[in-house]
Amino acid sequence: MKSYVGLEIHVQVKTNSKMFCRCSTDYFGKDPNLNVCPVCFGLPGALPVPNKAAFEKAVKLALALNCSINQSTKFDRKNYFYPDLPKGYQISQYDKPIGYEGFVEIELDGDSKRIRIQRVHLEEDTGKSTHSDNGDETYLDYNKSGVALAEIVTYPDFENEEEVILFAKRLKQIVRYLDVSDAEMQKGQMRFELNISTSLEELPMGELPNFKVEVKNIGSISVLEKVLQSETARQIELLTKGEEIKPHTRGLKDMTGETVFQRAKESADDYRYFPEPDIPPIQITDETLARLKSEMPELPHQRKQRYMDLGLEGEQADILVEDTERGGWFDTLRQAQGDKPNDKVITKEYAKWLLGDISFWLEKKKISISEMPFSTDDLIYLVSMMQEKKISGTIAKQVIEEIFENGGRAEEIVVSKDLLQVQDEGAVDGFVDEAIAANPKIVEDLKKNPNAIKFLVGQVMKLSKGKVNPSVAEEKLKSKLSL
Ligand SMILES: [Zn+2]
Repeated sequence: MKSYVGLEIHVQVKTNSKMFCRCSTDYFGKDPNLNVCPVCFGLPGALPVPNKAAFEKAVKLALALNCSINQSTKFDRKNYFYPDLPKGYQISQYDKPIGYEGFVEIELDGDSKRIRIQRVHLEEDTGKSTHSDNGDETYLDYNKSGVALAEIVTYPDFENEEEVILFAKRLKQIVRYLDVSDAEMQKGQMRFELNISTSLEELPMGELPNFKVEVKNIGSISVLEKVLQSETARQIELLTKGEEIKPHTRGLKDMTGETVFQRAKESADDYRYFPEPDIPPIQITDETLARLKSEMPELPHQRKQRYMDLGLEGEQADILVEDTERGGWFDTLRQAQGDKPNDKVITKEYAKWLLGDISFWLEKKKISISEMPFSTDDLIYLVSMMQEKKISGTIAKQVIEEIFENGGRAEEIVVSKDLLQVQDEGAVDGFVDEAIAANPKIVEDLKKNPNAIKFLVGQVMKLSKGKVNPSVAEEKLKSKLSL
């Protein structure tokens, strides 16, 4: 049994105005049909003018997906009738997409796999239709009509749900890094279409089953996973019963991933593509292409590699790649730190505290990293004090809590609350003696259970209010008890 799975992804390109007119793209939550003009309303005689910002973002997207670029490209009319498409055609790209033959690398359990990209092209979004409860009326809102859309089409390279999910998440990161889109799924800024065909036997290389089922308009990555599971299971069941599956399109029934039949595909859609007569072909000059390449930001996989090279764990790196706010804070911290001989140790400490206590407090206070009272200087100070064994981790935790609760600077708090570790030998001896005297049973127990020393260390920490270094305490205890 094998499923052949491909994806088509529509991403709304983040621009101020629509793809071919000056109407605002800020339509979310607005009253219907406010952002419309003769061009996106499809009135006769209106002339479309391509949006340069959207075009350049699409080129960058194609570059990030390792595509070849068609330096001479054009727009085409894709003819079909649908009420949310007032012109009776959509301006899209047919045989000269902006990008073609690229790939995205996904990471699987220490291994990686390339998902090939067939094409990246630009087109315009449609309007939105809503149906009345009794189904008698349909309302049309053209605010979304004409918003720039980038379409990405993969080859059927996915072998399981995990690969689809990893790819979808990576693509979402890429468009965000490029500022091509915010990719907010709940706002419909990124939509998936799954193409699935299952075969009970593995087919020879390069061959595909003789049917393909398309599931359109999937607006969330978790639903994507469920759709893939339920549709594959449905196909296996039918094929096992000996039934033939005809090519068709399905739609989402609900968020459980169940789908319903929408329409049969007797033959390939005939969209009667022809070059858009109102938009001249577009040349991407070598200079423009070189400039766009030079403007490419660091991409998610590059950032991850950078973090791994710094010694972070894969999971830590993944969090900082996905959450660019915390990732950016971490980078600022690293820059402020400068190069030190024990760089990796300190860098790992930064990551540990950022993803540990600091993230805990961000979550607890429900604030973003830009709003928090804790600064990079505070963490640099605390980590360096711990490195010099002048404060313990327990004290660092207290200081972080204090700053999140009451503000202030780490150094001031450490000094004013007298939190520096006790360096004075006599004072340390005092706490150790006290701990031994107060716990005769534990001391007795130590002969059988050497681990009990940890309890005594804990007692010393408690007595000293965290101000004795735990390893110093342990050493002292061992020497006093002749262990
Ligand atoms: Zn318009």
